[in-house]
Order: sequence, then C-alpha cells, then structure tokens
Amino acid sequence: MVHKYGPHIFHTDKKHVWDYVSRFIEFMPYVNRVKAIYDGKVYSLPINLFTINQFYGKSMSPSEAREFVASLADLSISEPANFEEQALKFVGRGLYEAFLKGYTLKQWGMAPTELPASVLKRLPVRFNYDDNYFSHKFQGMPKSGYTEFFDKCLRHDRIKVFLNTDFSHDMQNEFDHTFYSGPIDSYFLYSEGRLPYRTLDFVKEVHDNDYQGCAVMNYSDVDVPWTRVSEHKFFAPWETHQKTAVFKEFSRAQEPGDIPYYPIRQARERTLLSKYVGLANEVENCSFLGRLGTYRYLDMDATVAEALDAATISKYLINTGQKIPAFFVSTALG
Ligand code: UDP
Repeated sequence: MVHKYGPHIFHTDKKHVWDYVSRFIEFMPYVNRVKAIYDGKVYSLPINLFTINQFYGKSMSPSEAREFVASLADLSISEPANFEEQALKFVGRGLYEAFLKGYTLKQWGMAPTELPASVLKRLPVRFNYDDNYFSHKFQGMPKSGYTEFFDKCLRHDRIKVFLNTDFSHDMQNEFDHTFYSGPIDSYFLYSEGRLPYRTLDFVKEVHDNDYQGCAVMNYSDVDVPWTRVSEHKFFAPWETHQKTAVFKEFSRAQEPGDIPYYPIRQARERTLLSKYVGLANEVENCSFLGRLGTYRYLDMDATVAEALDAATISKYLINTGQKIPAFFVSTALG
C-alpha cells in the first residue's frame, strides 16, 4: 500500500469526523514518529526534549531545557509577523537554522521571512520526550487505504460518479446546485490570473529489506534537494514485506498540468484570491469547498469537517427555502 499523493496520516480532535470516516474504513493504530537528518546526524522530530538534548549535546530536564531554550529565543519579538520570527521567538536561531530554515526554503521555494507564522504553528515544540508528530486525540491509518474510504463513501443510490470527466459549466444546468471542489481559479478559467501552488514530484526506489527504518525521514539541509523520504511499509506496520518502496519528495512551483498541493497564501495571492471570492459570490447556485475550492492549507480532518457542515447547513437552508451560500467559511476570504 503506497500513498500516491505523499504521506497522509489521519489525525483529528473531532470525534464526529473520526466516527464519520470510521463508518467506511477500519483505522489501525498508527503514530507518526518523524526523524530528521541534519549535517550528517539523525534527530527526532517534532522538536522535543530528545532533539534539544541531542542538538546541544546535553542531558537537560524538561524545566532546564525550557529555561535554556527561552534564553536562546529572541524575546524582542512580541507578535511574530512571519515564519522566521515565529521560530526565533520559540526555539531560537540554532534549532531554527538546523531544522526549519532549510526545509522550509526547499518546501516553499521562498525565504521563511516571506511565509506566514501560521505555517510553523502546525508544528509543536515539546519539552518532554513525546515524539508523536501530531498532538491529536484520534490518530490512525486506514487498514486498506484511503481508496476504500472514497469507494464506500460514494457507493450510494443517489450518487453517480463519472471518472475522467472534466468539469464544464454546462453541467450545472442539469442540477439545482453545484458544490465545486476543484481549484477556484480554474472555475473562472483563470480570468484574474493563476493562484500559485507548490507541487510535488515523487521519485520511487525499491530496495531489499528496510531502507531507512521509519516511515518519514526529513532532510533539513538546504543543499540536499529533496525534502523528505517516505518508506511506505512503515505506515502499515501490521503488514510484512520483504522488499521496500521509498519515495523521495521534491517540491517545486506548480506549472499548468501539475497537481496542485500547497496553496501559497502570501499578500499578493490573497489579493488575487479575494477577486475570485468576489466573483464566486456572484455565481448563482454554486458553492466552493475544500483545499482547492477555498485555496487553504487544509488537513484531511478539517476538510471532512467542513464538508459535513456544508451538507448539514445546505439541508437546513433548502428545507427553509433559503439560498445556499458560495462559501461556508469566512476564512476563505482571508
Ligand atoms: N517544517 C520544517 N521542517 C521540518 C518539517 C516541517 O521546517 O522538518 C515546516 C515547513 O515549512 C512545512 C511546515 O513546517 O511546510 C509544516 O510541516 P508539515 O509536516 O505539517 O507539512 P505537510 O505534512 O503538510 O507537508
């Protein structure tokens, strides 16, 4: 079982989302314990007490490490304005330059000073030895893969699936309402210009036995061209395989025809997005949903939660004779 679009670990604090997805698939217990290679040495991620002690060659207790890191942090930054300031405020320059700066440059193709602080807020910093990459209550991997989820979810008397069929505006005439989850700019035929994304290239290698010994190894050095290597058999520890398939992940700017992965939401893109949001609000009987439809860096659980909300709200609005809005989330504007 491999994740064609890169590693996807299901993690959420929302019980209703976990329960909904579990109606269709069986989750197996899985905890993502990521490692990072920097300057020829292997470290534990996310940054935790083990990382801090390894990196500084110490054996500090949680409170000693907290004090030590606080002494390195840049306290002059009160409201971090970007990714770099957020990092300098919380972990100081040493850890930032080792584990965050190079990786981020490769992942986003721009300096961390140009990225919003919110990107870094995805990663915890821990003063204990908890190396679980996620802090969520519910975490797991689908036993038979995500394809089974979509297959079962879409197997319904009132759902018809057309594969290999591009969206065209005439299709909307056949339906009372459209929920559009493709890229919002493509709906408007890119009339205002393209909303940029990062895309990913995966280079597959097959080896005998095990390759790296864990599911995800990040490469923090800026001069290593890939960002991470995923060894997919470790995502399914309940399976055994003699050989191993690994995927080296490279990030680059999306060109027309490439799969869009990460929306780049800087000031210029937000202005462009707000133009599309304005256009979308003028369209009758169409709502925009999901990572591409709202141009946001959404995790799977947030996407499912919003889709469930959209369904509930729409049903209520239809039953009370009201119009369904173009967006269900105001953050689509920001
Ligand atoms: N990041 C980093 N070093 C790492 C891993 C992540 O600097 O070793 C930064 C990077 O900017 C990345 C962001 O943190 O885009 C969020 O990381 P996450 O692992 O959540 O990214 P995803 O799994 O969505 O690719």
